[in-house]
Amino acid sequence: MKYRVLAIAAATALGLTACSSAPPAADSSAKAGGPKVAVAFYPIEYATAKVGGDKVSVTNLTTPGSEPHDLELTPSQIAILEEADLVVYLKGFQPAVDKAIEASSAKHKLDLATVISLHPAAEEHHDEAEEGEKHAEDEKHAEGEKGEHDHGTTDPHYWLDPTLMAKSAEAIAASLGEADAANKDTYAANAKTAGEEFTALDDEFKTGLGNCKIKAIVTTHAAFGYLTDRYGLKQVGISGLSPNEQPSPERITEVQDEAKEHGVSTIFFETLTSPDVAKSIAGDLGLKTAVLDPIEGITKDSSGTDYPSVMRANLKTLQEANACS
Ligand SMILES: [Zn+2]
Repeated sequence: MKYRVLAIAAATALGLTACSSAPPAADSSAKAGGPKVAVAFYPIEYATAKVGGDKVSVTNLTTPGSEPHDLELTPSQIAILEEADLVVYLKGFQPAVDKAIEASSAKHKLDLATVISLHPAAEEHHDEAEEGEKHAEDEKHAEGEKGEHDHGTTDPHYWLDPTLMAKSAEAIAASLGEADAANKDTYAANAKTAGEEFTALDDEFKTGLGNCKIKAIVTTHAAFGYLTDRYGLKQVGISGLSPNEQPSPERITEVQDEAKEHGVSTIFFETLTSPDVAKSIAGDLGLKTAVLDPIEGITKDSSGTDYPSVMRANLKTLQEANACS
């Protein structure tokens, strides 16, 4: 965490140095450090840094190592929002952050949920799935009945599909181009390069997961729906979309039944939350456990230093656990 803060400070300082050695700009006070971009969490930080290159300074509101879902902003982070030229976030993922951003006077705001068509929240429980289907049918007959059920819920974890990372990069380039018109073309070009990298990663996943003996993954935090949908696997989430939910004993039994049915070798857990549930399910069935990283933040315990390297580590883990050739 300390390291990251220093890195950001160093990057900012470098930005300033680079600028001061350039010919005097017309409006040096405004352009001194380039646009200030505040981003809500890591995958957006990665895409924004790729697109902004050395033209922007990026501040991530989610401290590395903290769990982003329930993030509450501190007063100093709210001050960062107020000063930002652009804020990039994903409405619905971090409710307290959404509120602060919407209330802030940041000059430009990009909600990636308006750009990426988020999937409806996956049904984590058979009961809910059945109920959901039944309810959807009811709705056809009685429209407009907005009940207690969470119909509007979407799965936020789009970044685990690299093609959607490419899409986010394009949208970020467009917004940066509005915030800083002088560098519009650079942002568009950077987004194109980033898009090619994301496409290459997508190709690796397509090839790497194209032929797997085991078709399901069992994971504590159901963050991998975009990944399993794209690459033809099935996700069985133990706890749901939010990593801190505790599964019921009934859910654990269901998961164990599904794990047996699909012949899985491994129960996955993630870096930022406790492995206890995964370990106890695996232990009861005599299975292995392994980390599958939802890439909600990079820490020293991550299996890589950035989005693509952790994605590649995930790919390797999946290939091994699911017997892919
Ligand atoms: Zn998550």
